[in-house]
Amino acid sequence: MSKDEKQEKLDLIRHSTAHIMAEAVLEKFPEAKIAIGPSIENGFYYDFDLPRSITPEDLEEISEGMREIMKAGKDFVRKEVSKAEALEIFKGQPYKVELINELPEGEVITTYNQGGFTDLCRGPHVENTGKLNPQSFKLLTIAGAYWRGDESRPMLQRIYGTAWANPKDLRMHLQHLEEMEKRDHRKLGKELDLFSLHEEAGPGLVYWHPKGARIRLAIEDFWRKEHYKNGYELVYTPHVGKSWLWETSGHLDFYKEGMFNSMEMDASDYYAKPMNCPFHIMIYNNKKRSYRDLPFRWAELGTVYRYEKSGVLHGLMRVRGFTQDDAHLFCTPEQMDEEIAETLRFSLFMLKSFGFENFKAYLSTKPVGKSVGEDSKWDAATESLRKAIEKEGLEYDIDEGGGAFYGPKIDLKVKDAMGRDWQLSTIQFDFNEPERFDMTFVDHDGKEKRPYMIHRALLGSIERFFGVLIEHFGGAFPVWLAPVQVCVIPVAEAFDDYAKKISSELKAAGIRVETDLSDSRMNAKIRNAQNQKIPYMLILGEKERDENAVSVRLRTGNQTNGVPFSEFLQNINEKISKKEDL
Ligand SMILES: [Zn+2]
Ligand SMILES: [Zn+2]
Repeated sequence: MSKDEKQEKLDLIRHSTAHIMAEAVLEKFPEAKIAIGPSIENGFYYDFDLPRSITPEDLEEISEGMREIMKAGKDFVRKEVSKAEALEIFKGQPYKVELINELPEGEVITTYNQGGFTDLCRGPHVENTGKLNPQSFKLLTIAGAYWRGDESRPMLQRIYGTAWANPKDLRMHLQHLEEMEKRDHRKLGKELDLFSLHEEAGPGLVYWHPKGARIRLAIEDFWRKEHYKNGYELVYTPHVGKSWLWETSGHLDFYKEGMFNSMEMDASDYYAKPMNCPFHIMIYNNKKRSYRDLPFRWAELGTVYRYEKSGVLHGLMRVRGFTQDDAHLFCTPEQMDEEIAETLRFSLFMLKSFGFENFKAYLSTKPVGKSVGEDSKWDAATESLRKAIEKEGLEYDIDEGGGAFYGPKIDLKVKDAMGRDWQLSTIQFDFNEPERFDMTFVDHDGKEKRPYMIHRALLGSIERFFGVLIEHFGGAFPVWLAPVQVCVIPVAEAFDDYAKKISSELKAAGIRVETDLSDSRMNAKIRNAQNQKIPYMLILGEKERDENAVSVRLRTGNQTNGVPFSEFLQNINEKISKKEDL
């Protein structure tokens, strides 16, 4: 079976299982109103309007009902009906009636019946409920979902389930889910005391705790150092700007819904910035530029604010305030190819430094319909992006017509340790802003010309990138990122002084160290450090003190006794500078 056929078969299983779940729910709650029940990635859901909230015990009962229906082996029977007939069949089901009334006149309406239950559906399904293995599905969670995703419509209860071709595949999927749950950045963020969010203080706004801040600083320090090495200059720009800026940039025309509302001051409207670009352009336009000055590569860890519906906010992954690792490149047409190639190479270097190994590029080209900029510029820019991808030997897809109206772009996706894809880097041309801000440079021939402008973010947003890192490493950060790199543990009070001495020497060497002088038992101290996923524990007793040595225990449980302290220091420094794991 090909991959597509396999997927098709699974979709059939999942969607059919959703029908069976609806039947079981109706058996339990005859007054239930049913909405829709599609198959989704790895499973299915169905939305219900129910007299009360569903409990985990209900899910058990519903699952049992579903297994009965599967065992009964009833055919899925397709029937074509007229609109009037359909309205009659579903007269007690207002959500179905709404859907039927919206169907265009003359469209063939089909229902499927599996014995005790009839649904409005285009199909297809498995032929018979007996084709489904009663041990290959599981109902997972219950969530609230507005009818048709509209906050002004009733809130329904959505039951999610997963279904597979056989019990073994189900088991593997459940194991995968369990592992994902363990790595959930919201859960680990709490356990490791890295960050928090506070609904009452503003949803989607992130609070970095001391340990999270240490990781962020390690990321930012590395980022700044590498940017200077790669010929960038760093800039800082304001967090707010008057409406003039956003009218000129066009954001108030095409991005207003994505912005926070304005603040009034001195009879002017100010907006929190959703992007850093117009500010960097202000710096560019601050004086006349010559081809001799170009290219400019200006980078900023710029904090931006964007309005996102509260329903889509998710931990660090989708927030309302975040810091972009932003940069804008301004260059001449002759410099463009090299700038793009370098940016992509730099991007891959950065991501590889964080342990990502698997990349895929997506090239988005000129959209049909509205766009700005001459065709020749689009062609040259798109070609430049394509050449850069090929130079790096990256696997890529072309999203034909998928570009923004103002220029083509490359998106870079990485695969994490759990096999999930994350879009991180973006390299985006812009033919709009240079025009709107009338940016120019004086070329060789003395004529004023427009520079090429490229937006790029390598990590994307620091918040989201942090969320991805937490899940990728499952909270066990490589030494260079770990908020606490070493935990010093004396085996008894008599060795506290030696522990303090080692600790201060580590601190002096720039190592992030914690010393556990509590009166907990040694095993408890080790367990605690292990739970905090601290890479190294140094266990210190008499022998260690007498030999100026340390016993090194890794968070994996491996232990080496009697390592000379100088040797340990050299080792850990090497791990940090090479960005290696333990
Ligand atoms: Zn169906
Ligand atoms: Zn930008």
